[in-house]
Amino acid sequence: MKKTVLVSGGAGFIGSHVTVELIGAGYDVVVADNFSNCDLTCFEGVKTITGRKDIPFVEMDFCDKTAVRKLFADHAIDAVIHFAAYKAVGESVSEPLMYYQNNLVSFMNVLEVARERGGCNVLFSSSATVYGEPSPDRLPVTEQSERQPATSPYGNTKQISEDVLRDCVKAYPGIKGIALRYFNPIGAHPSALIGELPRGVPNNLVPFITQTASGKRACLSIFGNDYPTPDGTCLRDYIDIVDLAKAHVCAVARMLDGKMKQEYEIFNIGTGRPLSVYELVTAFEKVNKLKLNYKFAPRRAGDVTAIWCDPTLANEELGWKAERTVEETLEAAWKWEKHLIEK
Ligand code: UDP
Repeated sequence: MKKTVLVSGGAGFIGSHVTVELIGAGYDVVVADNFSNCDLTCFEGVKTITGRKDIPFVEMDFCDKTAVRKLFADHAIDAVIHFAAYKAVGESVSEPLMYYQNNLVSFMNVLEVARERGGCNVLFSSSATVYGEPSPDRLPVTEQSERQPATSPYGNTKQISEDVLRDCVKAYPGIKGIALRYFNPIGAHPSALIGELPRGVPNNLVPFITQTASGKRACLSIFGNDYPTPDGTCLRDYIDIVDLAKAHVCAVARMLDGKMKQEYEIFNIGTGRPLSVYELVTAFEKVNKLKLNYKFAPRRAGDVTAIWCDPTLANEELGWKAERTVEETLEAAWKWEKHLIEK
């Protein structure tokens, strides 16, 4: 029988790509979102890509426990992938309560209802921010690398949520958990029907690049060219959004097929390939055959110099590997931006 996966925050950037891959892999999916940071664009795109007009959708807030109870009562959910959370680092510094309330309460509601129902397979979307600033001799980071104290409330909600999941798995029979620690997800679906929809001025590099290329932004600032790296700009592990989405399918299958080696597992999801900001900018120009208006600007507060992962554990245990080249990814990102302009 087909298994059903609930995708909380499923209308957002990562959730919509994951929904496409889950459906492609033969799962039934229930999407739930409160549109706090997105609109219907991506969900409509998911329906077009998959050719499925009947994907169940529930508009709801996971902070509303009654609504979460109803959702689980209405659908036979075998696994939940929890994305429903706020994600703007800067905003979390100025509005910490908003972040702790939303990100922690929504996740605890999922776990509490899972517990009431005798358990569930829970996949949590975590982040490389839990590693903080690793010392250069400790790169690439593995799942064994120490977590560092979070530098923002957003980062702290990721750490706390990981711990809540670990402790619930230990305490409540039937709850199993996987945390995926994402590095830097970028790009868009090659169809250009789903992608990132930043509100206002983008904080992240690739949306800023594509908006500069389209003329929506005048000039990209490359934050810092005096870092102790080969070209002076920061190093990151940029992971294609479709590759990242496929990692979720592998992790869900591992849970549902009883392949987990422990009841709580953590995997780094990245390429293992460090790329500098400057390299990414020039790769974007080259593959899309355009010139980007950019300048070097002072460092951005809070940025780590370099972080990338060792994805061996995910490669071996999940049977997953990042496949798309950065050129393919940047081509897709630009195609999505052009699609948005034409809309
Ligand atoms: N960055 C930049 N200009 C921008 C946005 C980001 O130079 O307009 C740099 C940022 O300093 C970092 C890298 O791009 O070195 C990735 O930043 P992003 O915000 O995308 O992700 P982060 O690694 O901070 O989670």
